[in-house]
Amino acid sequence: MESAFPIPSQSQPPRMLRLKDGLKDGLGRAITYLRVSVTEQCNLACVYCKPRTGAMERAEPPAMSRDEVVRLVRVFTSLGIRKVRLTGGEPLMRRDLETIVAGISPEVEGRVHLTTNGLQLARRARGLREAGLLGVNVSLDAAERSSFERLTRKDGLARVLAGLEAARDAGLKTKLNAVVLRGWNEDQIVPLARLALTEAVQVRFIEFMPYQGNGWGREQFMPAAEILGTIQAGLGTELEEEPAVGLEEGPARIFRIPGAPGKVGVISTLSADFCDRCNRVRLTSRGQLKACLFGNQPVDLLEPLRNHASHEELAHLIRQALVEKLDCHPMRQGQFPQLDKGMWQVGG
Ligand code: SAM
Repeated sequence: MESAFPIPSQSQPPRMLRLKDGLKDGLGRAITYLRVSVTEQCNLACVYCKPRTGAMERAEPPAMSRDEVVRLVRVFTSLGIRKVRLTGGEPLMRRDLETIVAGISPEVEGRVHLTTNGLQLARRARGLREAGLLGVNVSLDAAERSSFERLTRKDGLARVLAGLEAARDAGLKTKLNAVVLRGWNEDQIVPLARLALTEAVQVRFIEFMPYQGNGWGREQFMPAAEILGTIQAGLGTELEEEPAVGLEEGPARIFRIPGAPGKVGVISTLSADFCDRCNRVRLTSRGQLKACLFGNQPVDLLEPLRNHASHEELAHLIRQALVEKLDCHPMRQGQFPQLDKGMWQVGG
């Protein structure tokens, strides 16, 4: 069948592309990390994520089948992606998540990670590990039950903690992520940081990011520097910053707590962005490539895939989209993006 997506005939075979030049964007940044949203659906309704205006689209069932996810990921990995994170919505709402992991893991030499709210992790952790999952980031914005319920609109803290324990027992690398909203959970910063005093876990605090309909306000925004100050004052100790590691380990600044097995970190998307070192792209559960979380129009890969575009043709669409990848997201210029999609749709 003749393709609807022609590309120049001199395109290289996929493996050659990976070996030769890797995947670069228009500014020469190496793109090695892909975040894949596998569903828009979620079993929590976190106040900072789920729109309260009703103006956004409804969460749709996953558009991409398991095979489509794996096939598109394979195109990315052939181009130079070395690490994949599955996210959502809530990825554990997909019953076939284990088979997705199993399909992707060999493509990235086992570097498949998951971001989850952890509600269903207790009964899935072992199977996911056996399927080839390497690590899991669990979103946990509160260490106290009532605060957790207020933020997520569900009484689920005990289940998340059980999920964390199961993940560690299964041999998964685990990290905790907490979004901080002044007026909602700044009183949880120190209780969450204290988890690192007794457990060998990284607790990372994320600045609250704005998008259309998520209720962001300057008064709720707490910059990373203030979060760090709160931790130091609360724990009564100086934090020691670790040397920066490759961005594949994530954009967090990580700090040791003297004498503690765990660490704390901050992700300062707004106050000190890391766009100049950006190495990531995103694929939504509807099969659209987002070159930048807050910028760039999505590029549809699913329809071409369903219309029998070849591997090389899909690779060409990806490379083309990356030529256009923004140098920095609009927030660096003090603008607040009016995303047409929520974080629950793009995958965070
Ligand atoms: N359901 C999964 C979870 O809870 O981790 C994965 C999807 S969630 C959209 C991915 C990440 O985005 C979570 O760590 C969440 O806290 C973060 N996130 C969502 N909205 C955010 C916002 N407005 N600002 C900062 N982080 C946000």
